[in-house]
Amino acid sequence: MTTVFKFGGASIKDADAIRRLMPLIEAHRERPLVVVISAMGKTTNALEALLADARDDGSSGGYRERLDELKAGHEAVAEALLGDEARELKQRVGELVKALDEQHRRHCESSYSVHYDQTVCYGELLSTTIVAAWLNHEGVATDWLDARELVITDDHHQDANIDWQATREAIRSQAASGDRVRLTQGFIGGTSDGISTTLGREGSDFSAAILAHCLDAAEVVIWKDVPGLFNADPRRFDNAVQLKRLSYAETIELAWHGAKVIHPKTLGPLKQKGIPLTVRSFETPEAPPSVIDADTRFDAEHPSCILRDDQVLLEVKPKDFSFMDEPRQHDILGRLVEAGAHANLIDGSAMQFTLCCDNKPERLKPLIESLDADYSLERQEELTLITVRHAGESLLERLREGREVLAERRNATTTQRLFRSEDCPETWHIPD
Ligand code: ADP
Ligand code: ASP
Ligand code: MG
Repeated sequence: MTTVFKFGGASIKDADAIRRLMPLIEAHRERPLVVVISAMGKTTNALEALLADARDDGSSGGYRERLDELKAGHEAVAEALLGDEARELKQRVGELVKALDEQHRRHCESSYSVHYDQTVCYGELLSTTIVAAWLNHEGVATDWLDARELVITDDHHQDANIDWQATREAIRSQAASGDRVRLTQGFIGGTSDGISTTLGREGSDFSAAILAHCLDAAEVVIWKDVPGLFNADPRRFDNAVQLKRLSYAETIELAWHGAKVIHPKTLGPLKQKGIPLTVRSFETPEAPPSVIDADTRFDAEHPSCILRDDQVLLEVKPKDFSFMDEPRQHDILGRLVEAGAHANLIDGSAMQFTLCCDNKPERLKPLIESLDADYSLERQEELTLITVRHAGESLLERLREGREVLAERRNATTTQRLFRSEDCPETWHIPD
């Protein structure tokens, strides 16, 4: 049975990081192996910036510079890996960057989302081209597969929906078992008409789950710069602890509330087939990993904390002192959906409906304009939302540390509180 590996941006950020893939892949060669890779390091952010330059600034000076940087960065990695034999690979990198530029020109007048998908997909096309060439160079027979022909989606650009039947057929015919490593891109897909799409930021984990689901894989291993899944982001909390066992359902809750370690869509396709997900460190592969499966026994062993920064609070009230009843709530949520926005916290009372959203101007601006026209609207920015699961009252109180709570929502397992970011510590600590 197949194993699916996924390496994220950090695991392939430079030539040294890419070299570390080899022993991990070789150690698993007794089984059929599919490898899913995202763009190198922060390439997707760089491509987004390049696109913003191209669309904002007709002179396209910034765009050119960024394109050259992208090309030079990938060529340098190709050269560091293949040395004197890098000529062909560097040429291939040049061709891909040229194709990116052509797609950019062709789609300048298209909607932002279409333009985004036709250009940003090159991050993954470049990284996989380099890694596949290097594996073959080192004697690991590897086939490079184009995920745009494997993961078939609709044309909901930047957040495409999977056509499962077409995807299953494509994956089974092109990526089913063989002796060679099959290597493909995360995050990207294609419509049945051959138009590139993307699955949403950080979507490579989801790609790995799609491949595993369609191949009835034995296991998915996601290699990270952390040993596994923690009960809080170890970069933000000084006493986060690793969660060695967790259920699919609990992991979806953590990811949905903003734990930026796994894409929330990853778990569904794995749960359907009972495929375990292992999160491991590519830096210390021998360290005990986190294993996610159907077993729910360990879910409440530790309280978990999830932070979301740069939040905007919207307090919506009827203008005529009437109730915030179901038709009004329906109307407000309809406008949220219409604007393509998402609320991280929703709360209601007799005359107020409260929403807390990420500060994404392209989504928030139309929502705010629409609400402002018919309701009395107040907004606050620069806020931090903390979501805590499986915590007792005393822990919640100590975590609050006397800060003013601007909005709150609670149920039996989850408490969400919104604070001013300036009131929050740089490094958090979960009280014992
Ligand atoms: P990649 O894109 O390379 O697959 P990410 O950078 O998306 O990996 O995810 C790894 C990062 O997720 C870690 O460096 C860590 O700071 C962050 N992170 C956030 N929440 C958690 C958590 N609950 N457990 C582990 N890591 C977390
Ligand atoms: N490269 C994409 C991103 O940065 C997808 C991923 O890394 O999962 O969002
Ligand atoms: Mg990531």
